Amino acid sequence: MHSPLSAVEPFEFRGRVFYVKRDDTIHPYFSGNKFRKLYSLLHTPAAQYERVVSYGGTQSNAMLSIAALCRRQGWAFDYYAKPVPEHLRSLPTGNLKQALALGMALHEFPHDTYPRRIRELAALGDDTTLVIPQGGADRIARKGVAVLAEEVRGWLLKSGKRSGVTVVTPSGTGTTAYFLAEAMPEVRVITTPAVGSGTYLEEQMRRLGPLPANLRIIGGAKKHHFAKPYPELLRIWQELRDAGIEFDLVYGAKMWYELMQLPRLEGGTLLYIHSGGLIGNETMLERYRYKKMV
Ligand SMILES: *Cc1c(COP(=O)(O)O)cnc(C)c1O
Repeated sequence: MHSPLSAVEPFEFRGRVFYVKRDDTIHPYFSGNKFRKLYSLLHTPAAQYERVVSYGGTQSNAMLSIAALCRRQGWAFDYYAKPVPEHLRSLPTGNLKQALALGMALHEFPHDTYPRRIRELAALGDDTTLVIPQGGADRIARKGVAVLAEEVRGWLLKSGKRSGVTVVTPSGTGTTAYFLAEAMPEVRVITTPAVGSGTYLEEQMRRLGPLPANLRIIGGAKKHHFAKPYPELLRIWQELRDAGIEFDLVYGAKMWYELMQLPRLEGGTLLYIHSGGLIGNETMLERYRYKKMV
């Protein structure tokens, strides 16, 4: 096996040792699971496409990574979103600022026609234009997540951790957790939805195929709206940071929060896949400051 793209580190938190695969260290723009999900496109010959089309939120981590991918491959990047708030349009921050600097062309659809216009984007796909669904929720992600699974397997073998292994990673679209569970039937994969309910997450995953039996979705007792500030998420994020690793405030904080709610934390080896997204912390912290929570 070729050498892994990120290290696995022991991480002591609330009196127990976890292991964290530091995918956040791979690249600032392709951090965490976006690198894995875009892996096959990063290895596609540049001549294959001329343009990429995608859509979603204007602070999305996927948007930034696709912008960086297109810059690297020399592809044009058209991104479609709902109308951008005036303050953000005049002074872009965070992921939006960086994606625009990388050459992304931002297009806005009015709220009322947004769902229909987004559905119509699929028709733009042809020999030279690639349409990537929101958040990179596509089978195109399968190859890169399989590479991640190979690296995890290599680490498990080398460190002699053969049984009772649980791999943990947060979900947006669920693409990463789904393909990880599919590629590693020998371990248990735990995830939690950062967007919507567990049922909604399952629906998203079923678009990729039947649900793997080793995949477990936890959480939902306390509802958190996507990317909204919550004191308990900020608290655990700070506690994790003080313990030595910075996670992202949207997905990572929620995953750790739900993991710590489990009445009986799994025995055996707990390996957390850091899903990156640290650039987004800047704008999330601003929202916490605005709400006077920090
Ligand atoms: C995009 C993202 C996720 C969610 O990944 P999915 O494959 O869509 O489930 C999780 N964590 C971070 C930091 C992300 O940026």
